[in-house]
Amino acid sequence: MVSLNDGEDPHFRKATFDITRCPIDCDRPCEKICPAAAIDSTGVLSDRCYGCGRCLSICPLGLIEEAAYVYQPETVVPMVMAAGIDAVEIHTQVGRLEPFRKLWAALEPVSAGLKLIAVSCPDGGEGMIDYLWALQDLMQGYKGARIWQTDGRPMSGDIGGGATRACLNLGEKVLNAGLPGFVQLAGGTNDSTAAKARDRGLFATPVQTSVQTSAQPSGLAGIAYGSYARSQLQPWLSQLEQPDGSTRSIETDPELLWACVAKAKALVSPLKDFAGL
Ligand code: SF4
Ligand code: SF4
Repeated sequence: MVSLNDGEDPHFRKATFDITRCPIDCDRPCEKICPAAAIDSTGVLSDRCYGCGRCLSICPLGLIEEAAYVYQPETVVPMVMAAGIDAVEIHTQVGRLEPFRKLWAALEPVSAGLKLIAVSCPDGGEGMIDYLWALQDLMQGYKGARIWQTDGRPMSGDIGGGATRACLNLGEKVLNAGLPGFVQLAGGTNDSTAAKARDRGLFATPVQTSVQTSAQPSGLAGIAYGSYARSQLQPWLSQLEQPDGSTRSIETDPELLWACVAKAKALVSPLKDFAGL
């Protein structure tokens, strides 16, 4: 899967600053707050920065800026075709129908070969559901699977249990809209999300699960774990980094690999139980 955007979006930005401007006596709050260990004595390690934005306002001198990037529709198709990609996630926001239309038009020549389209959208208030239906109308010719990803509180799941409330609220709202396709929680998800979703009755009951079709699921179909999963695995994955700046493949360290798999399994297993998967 490749992720694309139809306009500026926090998932498509990197923090940046010039370390030579930093006073030597700065106690480096930027480094302390970064959940991805993406700031060190050289500045921002771009490969690690995932754009959460937490460092942007913490610098007392205001030295940290964001560098946003937006995919141009004309670059999308060659990229999808060249890489053999068969699933696309599109980050959008309420009010971006025209940019989305352009991106979708660029994808249309290859969309028949895509197995999955995921549309990720944060809460846009009252116009949210109308906007998603407008996107559905635009994409109605697409025959593959689609996911409506409800980006409740983007990139905040590692902050704590309370971060998950917004994604549950948004997930419930989108489920109630009855859009064709799967609904997946994102934005603020962590190890408390699956149980809270179950307590709210957001998963299909076992009876519903047994009769639903894949085209019309009656409850939540999944949870995307981004920031939280990253924060859980980062200490282990950083062990793969080499002094020369390269990264070892995790397959070269079976013990580490299986420790990471066990961690991921513990996160995902309750969801599978509650969703009857
Ligand atoms: S705090 Fe967030 S935005 Fe800043 S460097 Fe770290 S990951 Fe990037
Ligand atoms: S907080 Fe600001 S001044 Fe201090 S190290 Fe970070 S970027 Fe430099």
